[in-house]
Parts: sequence; structure tokens; C-alpha cells
Amino acid sequence: MFQHSGTLHEVVGNGRRLLFHTPTAALFEADAVTGAVLDLLREGAAPASLARQLDGRFPPSEIATALDELQRLDRPAVTAPAATAPLTTLVLALTSGCNLACDYCYKHDLSNPAAARRMTPGRAAQAVDLLLRASGKAPKVTVTFFGGEPLLEMPVIRATIAYAEAATAAAGKKVDFSLTTNGTLLDDATIDFLDAHRVGITVSLDGPAALHDRHRRTRGGQGSHALAAAGARRLLARPRARRAGARVTLAAGCTDVATIHAYLHDELGFDEIGFAPVTAGTPAEFRLSDDELAIVFDGFKALGLRWRDAAIEGRDLGFGNLANLVTALNRGMTRALPCGAGTQMLAADAEGTLHLCHRFVGDSEVPSFGTLDAGIDTEAVTAFVARAQARAEGCAGCIARPVCAGGCYHESQSRYGDLFRPTDHYCTLMRDWIRFGIGVTADIMARNPAFFAANNQPRRAAR
Ligand code: SF4
Ligand code: SF4
Repeated sequence: MFQHSGTLHEVVGNGRRLLFHTPTAALFEADAVTGAVLDLLREGAAPASLARQLDGRFPPSEIATALDELQRLDRPAVTAPAATAPLTTLVLALTSGCNLACDYCYKHDLSNPAAARRMTPGRAAQAVDLLLRASGKAPKVTVTFFGGEPLLEMPVIRATIAYAEAATAAAGKKVDFSLTTNGTLLDDATIDFLDAHRVGITVSLDGPAALHDRHRRTRGGQGSHALAAAGARRLLARPRARRAGARVTLAAGCTDVATIHAYLHDELGFDEIGFAPVTAGTPAEFRLSDDELAIVFDGFKALGLRWRDAAIEGRDLGFGNLANLVTALNRGMTRALPCGAGTQMLAADAEGTLHLCHRFVGDSEVPSFGTLDAGIDTEAVTAFVARAQARAEGCAGCIARPVCAGGCYHESQSRYGDLFRPTDHYCTLMRDWIRFGIGVTADIMARNPAFFAANNQPRRAAR
């Protein structure tokens, strides 16, 4: 019996019929007999009538095989409880201070550097100890430096890296570092130190000056582009151990994806550009309107086609959003939860309170998940995971489910005041984007599968 369970979705692209199985995120190309069988089933044909209806077009044995495969795929998903994975990433919100005052900033507790709450080296070392204890048998942990502006706290970063390298080596583990900065404080000595310790750097830059300076300003109200771009150029001019990424916040009035990508990738030379459309978590006047969000996704698709064509030729055009999606689809990755927040990842603030992720630092409306002194509140984490999984189950029939799984908790919280409501304000665009990604994945798999082996690197964890 074909149940129309909603687990099998069809995407048509480049004359091919692709079938995407959401419980496993597996992607198949439907051959002629499978397509014909599927069409009849969708019209309500009884399985027993298929051989008669397709008489002469395909051998009965091929019809029976296609039917059997479709029926096996068309079973309602049974979701196993999300296993509580060990903590492998800890974000250190080193300071609540920033030398910039971007109008769209989601940070609830941002202050000028002089008034900032700052993490001490001792607190940061305590955080590393907790991460090592909570990481169980995981061979590698990640420490991410965040702010405010983390480069205001270089002495703490230096001390923490030294401590973490020694502590992880003593524990027989490896450690990976990453850092997100506004770029204005990237001088040569800082860049050399970060590179020597293989710190993955992401610079927040919103494109050329005319776009960047709309929202990203100094505390005095001046555009910050000149300072940030100078830091980025210094970073990108030097040989470096790791790829350098730019993170673009697309807020009101900033929708020109092609221009921004061309500037950051082709002109400045960033390896990868990740775009974050603002739909929540900031005053409504700085969010993208619905029309602007649609323009952004159109821009993503236009850039995505160029990225696909380059990938088929073996080149990486550095479009992080699509690279992440295509990597997930190619690997058949399916998520029980939208991200690692609260499970594999937590964020510690200056006082040592643990939060779901860096975005919740300073947000007093969402309860904490323990402290560095008392340890992780496992009861709170378990309750969170159960509710988060129930939230994702509400998305069961959605083609985007394996990748989106209900969307970002911070967006849900800031848009609806409800951590556990799916981010349904852009479901239509999200589904369209997933369908686009499925088509791109299939095209690359068909024409240059070696691209995946060469470019299958996991991207940064926290942005
Ligand atoms: S939030 Fe919307 S797009 Fe995302 S999985 Fe749920 S229903 Fe699909
Ligand atoms: S997706 Fe949202 S909740 Fe998850 S880590 Fe990112 S900002 Fe935090």
C-alpha cells in the first residue's frame, strides 16, 4: 500500500526527476519506470493495477521492483530520541563590549568597552576544563572566541590558547580555535599570533562601503568600513594556515547578494562568504521586509547557479550557505535538531553562566544551562532537548526537515518569544532553497563528483 506519508519529495531539475527521502536525506534519480509508477500512485492507482495500466511500456518485473522500492521509502518516519551528544564546542563570550555600535546588533548586553563585563583568564581556563570534562570520548574539542568584539581581549585570548593547548594535549585530545571579529583590530601581530595557532577567523563585513556603512558604524556614528576593510586586507594579504571567511549580515536595505559576494570574494579575497539574513532578533526597522527577503533568496539562487557551474569545473566560488547545504545533502546528513546549541555546544559569559549559544548571552528571558562553577545543568539540557525534538517533529512532512529541523532557536525566541515555535515566517523560502540545493547537488554529483571529495570540509560552527 502506498501511504503518501510525506517522506518522499520530488524535485524536477534539468529534465531529471529527483526523489528526496527526508528521513534519511537520501537523494535518488527516478528512472522512467519509477517515475511512471509514482505518477500513477499519486493519482490514486491501486498497486495491483499498475502492471495492467503500464502494460507494454515496461516489463512487469521492473514495475514490481519500482513499486517495492517506492513503498519501502514511503513509510512514516520513526524518529529516535536525539541522543545527548557530548559537549564538543564551547563559545567564550569574552566581553560584552564592542568598539562598534551596529544598529542591527542582536546583543542585549552590548556596552562600550570601558563599561564591559569581561571574562578573566581564570574564568576562561575554567571553561576549557569544563569542556574537556564534558567532551567524554570525543577526540577533538573546539573553543570559539566571541564578544562583543573578542579582539579587545587579546591578553585573555593568548592565555586561553596556551592553557587549552596544554590541557587538551594532557588529556590526549586535539583542540581547534575559531574567532569572529569585526576586523577593525586586526593588526599584524594579532594576525600572526592567530595564524600560528591555526585560529579560524571569520570577519563580519557587509560588503563595499555603501552597503557596509548603512548599519555598521562606530560608537561615534561614523561608517566602520574603512577600518574593517583595512584589517581584512591585512589578514588576507598574508599566507595563512586556514581559510578566512566573511560573514555578511543582510539587514534592511542590503539585499544585493551578487555585489557583496563579488566585493568580498573577488576583490578582497575571502575564501568563503556566509550570508545571514536578518528576520528577527533586532528592531523591526532593521529587519529585511518580506519583499527584501524574497530578493535575497533570488540573489542566493543566481549566485548559486554560478557557484554550481564553477564546482562542475572544479572551482570553489566560496558561497558558504550553498556549500554547507550541498555538503549536507551529499553526505545524506539528517538532523534531529536544527543546530548543536544546548547539546554539542554551549556558550559561557563573563560571569561563567552557560547559555544555549552565543546569541543567548545577555538574554535574560531564556534560562541558563548551568554555570562554570556548578557544571552543566543536565536536567535543563535534557528537558530542552526533549522539547526541541518535539518541535522538530512538527515539521515531519516538510522537505526541508533534514536540514532546517524547525530553524534557529534564537530567531524563534526573538521573533515569537517562544524558543520552541518553528521559524515558520520563512518556511516557503526555506523549502524553495532546499529544492534548489537538491538540484545543485544532483548536477554536481552527475558532472563532477570529485568536487565533493576535494571540498568536503566542515565549515565553522558558530557565527
Ligand atoms: S521550520 Fe518550516 S521550513 Fe523548517 S523544517 Fe519546519 S516546516 Fe520545514
Ligand atoms: S542556529 Fe540559532 S540557536 Fe543555533 S547556534 Fe546558531 S544562532 Fe544559536
